Amino acid sequence: MTTTVHGYPRIGPDRELKRACEDYWAGRADADRLDAVGARLRRGVWETLRDAGVAHIPSNTFSYYDHVLDTAVLFDAVPPRFAGVAAGRRDRDAELRRYFAMARGAADAPPLEMTKWFDTNYHYLVPELGPGTRPRLAGGKPLSEYTQARGLGIETRPVLLGPLTFLMLAKPAAGAPEGWRPLELLDELLACYAELLGALARAGAQWVQLDEPILATDAGRAEPEALRRAVEVLGGLAERPRLLVSTYFGPIGHQALEILRNSRIEGVGLDLVSGPESVSDVARVLGLPGKTLVAGVVDGRNVWRSDVPAALSALSSLLGLADEIVVGTSCSLLHVPIDLDAETGLDPLLRERLAFARQKVDEVVLLGRALAGGDAAVEAELERARTAAAERTPAAFRDQRVRARLDALGPDPVRRRAGGAEAESALPPLPTTTIGSFPQTGEVRGARADLRAGRIDRAEYERRMRAEIDRVIALQEDIGLDVLVHGEPERNDMVQYFAEQLDGYATTQAGWVQSYGSRCVRPPILYGDVHRPAPMTVGWITYAQSRTAKPVKGMLTGPVTMLAWSFVRDDQPLADTARQVALALRDEIADLERAGIRHIQVDEAALRELLPLRADRRAAYLAWAVGAFRLATSGVAPSTRIHSHMCYSEFGDIVGAIEALDADVTSVEAARSRMELVDDLAAAGYARGIGPGVYDIHAPRVPSVEEIEAALRAALRAVPPERLWVNPDCGLKTRGYAEVEPALRNLVAAARRIRAELAAAG
Ligand code: GLN
Ligand code: ZN
Repeated sequence: MTTTVHGYPRIGPDRELKRACEDYWAGRADADRLDAVGARLRRGVWETLRDAGVAHIPSNTFSYYDHVLDTAVLFDAVPPRFAGVAAGRRDRDAELRRYFAMARGAADAPPLEMTKWFDTNYHYLVPELGPGTRPRLAGGKPLSEYTQARGLGIETRPVLLGPLTFLMLAKPAAGAPEGWRPLELLDELLACYAELLGALARAGAQWVQLDEPILATDAGRAEPEALRRAVEVLGGLAERPRLLVSTYFGPIGHQALEILRNSRIEGVGLDLVSGPESVSDVARVLGLPGKTLVAGVVDGRNVWRSDVPAALSALSSLLGLADEIVVGTSCSLLHVPIDLDAETGLDPLLRERLAFARQKVDEVVLLGRALAGGDAAVEAELERARTAAAERTPAAFRDQRVRARLDALGPDPVRRRAGGAEAESALPPLPTTTIGSFPQTGEVRGARADLRAGRIDRAEYERRMRAEIDRVIALQEDIGLDVLVHGEPERNDMVQYFAEQLDGYATTQAGWVQSYGSRCVRPPILYGDVHRPAPMTVGWITYAQSRTAKPVKGMLTGPVTMLAWSFVRDDQPLADTARQVALALRDEIADLERAGIRHIQVDEAALRELLPLRADRRAAYLAWAVGAFRLATSGVAPSTRIHSHMCYSEFGDIVGAIEALDADVTSVEAARSRMELVDDLAAAGYARGIGPGVYDIHAPRVPSVEEIEAALRAALRAVPPERLWVNPDCGLKTRGYAEVEPALRNLVAAARRIRAELAAAG
């Protein structure tokens, strides 16, 4: 019985990658320094896996920014607008500059669109491919990482993003004819993979992993011919390593399994955590004779210790169905924090139920040894694991009062509405606002750090936060925004801030997970029944409101997002957990209202992200997601304006749900996806306020008045002016004032120009 993992976190135990990239971007470090950090981080991962006893170690799971971007660059799918970056230079620095320009934008070149990696909170950059794209093998990253490991005496299995997933995640480049699909490049791209596989084989690679998570989606399942073609071409190559087609984030169904079974591919990886039915699918296609089956039984996406007996029985039911069973993780460990040993503050009762990446590696190894059998030392460890799995949620993690209140509330509370509420509002047409956060300056972060370290007391901390709120309110008044925000200076993170104040939630000290590029988040752990012991935001918001005559928006994080960006208990349906969070928010909203706050925003940035990959599971999800939002927001007076905000992604398949949330105004990411959403919403009959983001806050540049005006005009083609709100596409916390202030001034100027025109037109 052997063992492997699909991938391991790449940011480094102390987020070394983040610092190295940011130093490079800021000109504090050169390309050599950055590359040296990269090499050190890769080495650290390989040695960790080797020392833990993992038999098959992956390589090329490292990335400076994103593995989809790496793949686009590897195959030369670089849109022409980046040709001018470091033009004429061919050195390593120029190569890196072009790479990072695609991720972050350059002077005249907006970056690639960024969106969620399947239903995770990792973001990838969307490749742009057109009929004119000529893929060719243009880089050597997989090869050089393989050779680096080999030089250290570590044999690895290079991991490549598979051709189907790469093409199906790409979008047609601007100018591609209507109906053209990136999948049309399959044959040309397969030739590039062939060349790369040949080179890897010559360098000594025994196995290569092709990641094809797209096979778990409806879109992937709908393309059996593309899969057949890919495995036929790659399987038939004369010179290649053995191939492991790795799938994850759901079951791939028996049709794809059958294609893989009948191909010359040597290995198949299945996610048995999100697709336990794969075990019977494998049986249904009569097994995978002659092949290696990587059985993903250790959850790569959550932080709970494995249910060892369940994992062992899944593994034993596979025995005999393939030539070789390899114990693995359900997907890359990219999605969990690195090491539980770094946590010293967790309740021991909780801690003994957790496993981070490093501990999951141990679980994989333990399961491998257990299945191999005959190892007495393993028995004791197995016994410990069994006890830990037996009682996931001890009585200490439960709260009967919360359960009783929810039962008494009954399902689906409905919002009271009254005609004429709009008339009460003194807002101009095309009201301007922001999504909530303002730049988190060194002082703001410093104040939080000082409080945590005990260098200042609570009173001094409050004083500093209030001073910051004063500054942010004054700035917004000066800029001329209509609905103000307090700026969220007290929030380290929009989920963690609430998690810290809710019972049933724990936060970590170093549980960082990569979100995109150098941005890492520390998802809290929702382990028990959720309860709000005291108001969470009322003090800050009412203070901000006391400093201005303009309305200040209260700012909360919605139930779905609270779950999506946390690690959540898996001992009860997500729907039940969401209702508990919603109840806490409902109480907070009631308190805000009582304190005189008239606009309350409940961010559901992650509504789209938790959408099941498979269509047949979506309706049930949307029903509870919408229900939780309404439970949180339906208690307000008719005149209170409920705002919501969502970021990223294509919303085509949830427009109905956006409507059903019953919010008065919804702001959404739209700048990077060119206002397409507004058309979708209009087509779906959405009839409430909409604030399509008019510029992309993720790019470090200042949008001009004309650019914003053009975005607004595009939106106005689908929404009438009385329902159009003007705002950036997300919170501003990751930006600096040098960009934010001119950008918001341009935003207000653009809105005013259009207002003036509307007024003139009568
Ligand atoms: N209110 C949050 C902010 O402005 C929303 C962030 C988000 O959508 N990711 O930071
Ligand atoms: Zn957002």
